[in-house]
Amino acid sequence: MRVLQLYDTYTRSIRQFQSLQPGQVGMYACGPTVYDYAHIGNLRTYIFEDILRRTLEFNGYKVKHVVNITDVGHLVSDADTGEDKMEKGAKKVGRTAWEIAAMFTQAFKEDIKHLNIKEPTIWCRATDHIVDMLQFIECIERNGYTYHTSDGIYFDTSKQPDYGYLGRLDIEGLQAGARVDLGEKKHPTDFALWKFSPKDQHRQMEWDSPWGIGFPGWHIECSAMSVKYLGKFFDIHCGGEDHITVHHTNEIAQTEACYGTHLANFWMHGHFLQLDAEKMSKSAGEFLRLQSLIDRGYDPLAYRFFCMSAHYRAKLNFTWESLDGAAVSLDRLRNLVYELGEAGEPDPEWIDRFISEMNDDLNMPRALAVVWELLKSDIPAKVKKGTILVYDQILGLGLADYRPPVESIPDEIIALANQRQMARSEKNWALADSIRMEINQKGYEIEDTPQGPKIKRKRR
Ligand code: AMP
Ligand code: ZN
Repeated sequence: MRVLQLYDTYTRSIRQFQSLQPGQVGMYACGPTVYDYAHIGNLRTYIFEDILRRTLEFNGYKVKHVVNITDVGHLVSDADTGEDKMEKGAKKVGRTAWEIAAMFTQAFKEDIKHLNIKEPTIWCRATDHIVDMLQFIECIERNGYTYHTSDGIYFDTSKQPDYGYLGRLDIEGLQAGARVDLGEKKHPTDFALWKFSPKDQHRQMEWDSPWGIGFPGWHIECSAMSVKYLGKFFDIHCGGEDHITVHHTNEIAQTEACYGTHLANFWMHGHFLQLDAEKMSKSAGEFLRLQSLIDRGYDPLAYRFFCMSAHYRAKLNFTWESLDGAAVSLDRLRNLVYELGEAGEPDPEWIDRFISEMNDDLNMPRALAVVWELLKSDIPAKVKKGTILVYDQILGLGLADYRPPVESIPDEIIALANQRQMARSEKNWALADSIRMEINQKGYEIEDTPQGPKIKRKRR
């Protein structure tokens, strides 16, 4: 068995990965809040998680990959105030919260398909698991970690001596600096487990509970669903880096209060995609969707390839120029691999070189460097092709199925090319050249090959 090293945010260290049960990995990834489309920043995190899953599978593990759909309870502010993002999003487009949840869940599933992200083993919707959440909150209550306010049931973080360890929170500093109005909350880090529906307002999504009609807090959703599908202590929990200090910290607090575990053996976080050095966020209103890239003529896999150019623990700045660069490199890679012809047996040494980079905390940029080196090497084409197709189990670029697009050349251009051939056969070089220039001006180029002239559309 190969050695797989992964960075664990909980211990802030690279640790050797060993599954809790032989040959199997339980992995939970925080899914989208479906009040809007996913932006390409969100999708960077799902690409990282896909590469993690594929690497685990490459190492021989069977991965149970669980992704939730947050369709209730994620409030506009992390301080448990403000509107529910779903209800707010629904109002904005004049539809019900249930309708927009279904619509944006579907859009998300299409995005991940476009990016060759493997479907999770289990999708779980928060609104389908209210009973599990109620039981979880009851358990936390029985163990003495809750208190009531007029707007909900809260988790008392002061009862847990190691609260905030994941985020290395400075609890005393937070307490001292808590200038915001705490309302009835006892400590700034306390958070809602269950919120009551406002008395003066009808919510679209609400449920009865032992404490009153209302809806679950966002953090309890992920604790309840991950425990239900993966158990009280499972292998890997992941998400974007923004989840470290609040969402995942609170998931751990809840699970510790109920089961005495910190939920997952490894906590892994993808770093943010930035747009002009600003973080990209859904709530800021302006963001790029995958569809915006497709509409501009980009292949969605060029975005996947762009994300793979950086380590998942490094910030990545999005610019159109760098996406162009990724698109050109991906084209080159695909064509080179296509031209290798039939695949033969892969080369075990080259496989080792690639996988040892991946197993070094998913070092994608170095693994990609191995890909280019292999292509430049002088091993037989068949072996190269066989080896690259094995790499593609992790790269996920669909290299086995790639065919260069068959371009349809307009009749007008074909007629000009024929006239040029005629001029050449009459040795009328001046006329042949001027026809070639006319063809160029119309956006095409002619290459004279031993098999005769080839017409191609000019590249941007
Ligand atoms: P959300 O739909 O807002 O709950 O977020 C879905 C996932 O995207 C979470 O794992 C977030 O941590 C992650 N995320 C949010 N913004 C970004 C960003 N700019 N870059 C990378 N990941 C992000
Ligand atoms: Zn979550």
